[in-house]
Amino acid sequence: MTFSIHGLAVARGIAIGRAVLVASSRVDVAHYFIDPAQIESEIDRVRSGRNAVVEEIHRLQQTISQLGPKDAPNELRALLDVHLMMLQDEELIGGVKHWIQDRLYNAEWALTTQLEMVARQFDEMEDEYLRERKADLEQITEKVLRAMQGVASPTLPTVVRSGRKPAQQDLQLDDTDVPLVLIAHELSPSDMLQFKQGVFAGFVTDVGGKTSHTAIVARSMDIPAVVGARTASQLVRQDDWVIIDGDAGVVIVDPSPIILAEYGYKQRQVELERSRLGRLLNTPAITLDGERVELLANIEMPEDAPAAMRAGAVGVGLFRSEFLFMGRQSQLPDEEEQYQAYRRAVEGMNGLPVTIRTVDVGADKPMDGNLPETAYLNPALGLRAIRWSLADPAMFLTQLRAILRAAAHGPVKMLIPMLAHLSEIRQTLALIEQARAELTRDGHTFGAVQLGAMIEIPAAALMLKTFLRHFDYLSIGTNDLIQYTLAIDRADESVAHLYDPLHPAVLRLVADTIAECRAQGKEVSVCGEMAGDIAMTRLLLGLGLRSFSMHPAQILAVKQEVLRADTSKLAPWAQAVLVHDEPASLLAG
Ligand code: PEP
Ligand code: MG
Repeated sequence: MTFSIHGLAVARGIAIGRAVLVASSRVDVAHYFIDPAQIESEIDRVRSGRNAVVEEIHRLQQTISQLGPKDAPNELRALLDVHLMMLQDEELIGGVKHWIQDRLYNAEWALTTQLEMVARQFDEMEDEYLRERKADLEQITEKVLRAMQGVASPTLPTVVRSGRKPAQQDLQLDDTDVPLVLIAHELSPSDMLQFKQGVFAGFVTDVGGKTSHTAIVARSMDIPAVVGARTASQLVRQDDWVIIDGDAGVVIVDPSPIILAEYGYKQRQVELERSRLGRLLNTPAITLDGERVELLANIEMPEDAPAAMRAGAVGVGLFRSEFLFMGRQSQLPDEEEQYQAYRRAVEGMNGLPVTIRTVDVGADKPMDGNLPETAYLNPALGLRAIRWSLADPAMFLTQLRAILRAAAHGPVKMLIPMLAHLSEIRQTLALIEQARAELTRDGHTFGAVQLGAMIEIPAAALMLKTFLRHFDYLSIGTNDLIQYTLAIDRADESVAHLYDPLHPAVLRLVADTIAECRAQGKEVSVCGEMAGDIAMTRLLLGLGLRSFSMHPAQILAVKQEVLRADTSKLAPWAQAVLVHDEPASLLAG
């Protein structure tokens, strides 16, 4: 039966495919397709993982058989029996085999998919004792996954699919030609990054706001995505046919043939529009009245640089360096690793400028990849971004040295996130000086960098003169500026309706920042999601903005808006929008 689920539209387009429910495992799980020749070895890997855990339990059983009931309570013995029973359950192994043989999922993916299937059956059980056994199942699956980590995996994704039609060299099996869409309760930004290799044609998550970092990474992948779909992961079943309408923020489950045909048509229209925009690739972004506009790319990894170039970006306006730091547990990247990564980004941009933002972890970008469960903490107001860097000067110096060294290979701008206090500015500048002095002392080559600050806390937007005394340029992080001005957690879907880029207070702060920079002849850009939103392009141009940084996939659509704009007419209109009580009502005009 067809039904629809409503959420928040975060990445445009239509995806039609089979649902893959991703079980939230605490073990990182890779998702890729194997070659048919690897089927047996993948099944063997799962078997070896399972056997290792069975042996471990047998050993434990032997040990406790020598202990009295005081040291080894009967509950523990019973629990081990349950774990053994589950591990030897044919449904678990049979299911895993199915995902590997028929779908060509890699071993870990097959195991977590089957876990999800069986876990649902547990959820539906009436008996509370049996229902609670789900936790045991999750535990043993995790153990098997860990045991499998010790067994080498053929990590080369021989078949990487996205929503596109399979290319000739891709595998041609009936069942594997179907695009897959991912449905999850929650994905951290680093989880999301794992999926960047392009296995999925679309994403749906139960939680998350439009500018949560998970949504941002989904958008950067340029595939349809809906977040904040609340109960999607409970309502959708493994393998259901699903349509994701990334424009409307709707997920349609088990669509009828008529609905499928309608969305198939819409999908083709989207593709047509994309190819039409492709013609603008080499057209310079100049408005009707001759104003040159800089369209830059936001990237998460150095490997994103080629896509930025292909999209026609004239540089990187925001390299979110924190993605190098996330999911590493306590093993942070050292100076050499960071230097090589920044250098790859710089060289990948072929002489175009690269803005490297110093690490911005915290809030919804936790270091260990796990989202915080503690409701009472307020991580967005906590030790995040520059606060985190200044709390660990040695770590910060390592990053500063790496960035300065990478600057020897091409134009680099350094960008500091979330500054609010003059004392933070002073400490940051002193550490940059120290990094330069250390590099000189150590005989390292390094380059000159322009220094910029992000304006993403209202306090910063209210002390622009101070900021401009210390920095070469400013970059407005509207995602956080909106969050902190309106006191709306950007990752919380329950207040998403209040997250308003057109709130008069937000517009005032954005407008003042642009105006002050222009008055002082300093560069200013917007690198928050507002910059890639075509509904905002004319307004930002009217406010005097000439530098926009966004996901590469948005560049051509924004360029089209630029080419149609006349800033001499937009400027007075933008001033009227600015003083209006309800700016949104003027935006269509
Ligand atoms: C912003 O806040 O607008 C921004 C660009 O930074 P991030 O989204 O990474 O917080
Ligand atoms: Mg920010």
